[in-house]
Amino acid sequence: MVNRLQELESRVRQDLGRAGDLGALEALQFKVLGRKGELTQLLRHLGELTPEERPAAGQEANRVKGVLEKAFEERRSQLSASGSGPAAGMIDWSLPGRRGFRGRRHPITQTLDEVCGIFSRLNFEIVEGPEIELDYYNFEALNIPPDHPARDMQDTFYISEGVLLRTQTSPMQVRVMESRKPPLQIVSPGKVYRRDSDVSHSPMFHQVEGLMVGEGISFGDLKGILTLFVRRMFGEDTPLRFRPSFFPFTEPSAEVDIGCVLCQGGGCRLCSRTGWLEILGSGMVDPEVYRFVHYDPEQVTGFAFGLGIERIAMLKYGIDDIRMFYENDQRFLNQF
Ligand SMILES: [Zn+2]
Repeated sequence: MVNRLQELESRVRQDLGRAGDLGALEALQFKVLGRKGELTQLLRHLGELTPEERPAAGQEANRVKGVLEKAFEERRSQLSASGSGPAAGMIDWSLPGRRGFRGRRHPITQTLDEVCGIFSRLNFEIVEGPEIELDYYNFEALNIPPDHPARDMQDTFYISEGVLLRTQTSPMQVRVMESRKPPLQIVSPGKVYRRDSDVSHSPMFHQVEGLMVGEGISFGDLKGILTLFVRRMFGEDTPLRFRPSFFPFTEPSAEVDIGCVLCQGGGCRLCSRTGWLEILGSGMVDPEVYRFVHYDPEQVTGFAFGLGIERIAMLKYGIDDIRMFYENDQRFLNQF
């Protein structure tokens, strides 16, 4: 390694002498010190050396880098002084300028931030949890034992026995309750994974989970908070309804529908002619769940809800294929 570095150094010194103008110098510098330059490539191999060889090679690499940078600088001032700089016709001043591109946040991030922002202003704390999760938190402590049919609703990626990619953000409910005393009010955003892929399903997508537990929390609180959320997210006049449903970790459970954003309730293909679109699942926390976290169901009650960010973004912006979010097509992303 040390030899190769020294070879490179002496070769570049010769080439430097031959670089007759600033353009050639620029090109040489790029070839040697650029991001994919020869020296940079050499440095990548430092990690493959034995621990004994590494210090000497590292030191030599730093020396060569410093020496070459200085040599380029000196050659540059020489060439500029001798009049082969821009004034000698290196730059065509009549060329149009290059336009800079401005980055922006991904529509999923924007929607996620908007949802979390609404709950955060309602005094919900934002907590994040692991994407690689234990079966215990993802299923068992949420009242979904090993033989429970609800496990079939979510095709799971298993990593090993008892370890999986979380299929929902709900495990955070258990993790938070396990480590804190009520009252608490949290939302937990993040990525979740399921073996599913078509125009409306992606193997990775984003959810936000919410939980509010304390003394005397009722279904009325659930309705109040979720109604506020829907109005702030989709507009004050958005019609919504609560429809009875089933989830293993809430009882009673309700799904929330909003009036179809496309047909305004008249009935279309998007809403399967019902005039309604499901946007989130919710319910009162099942007393069984409290048993796992040692809360007394006689003392505390609470509600939980979960929503899919992609679905919310698709409805809000009228996007009909979930895969567009992940293709990174500038023409799509620039619209947000
Ligand atoms: Zn519709």
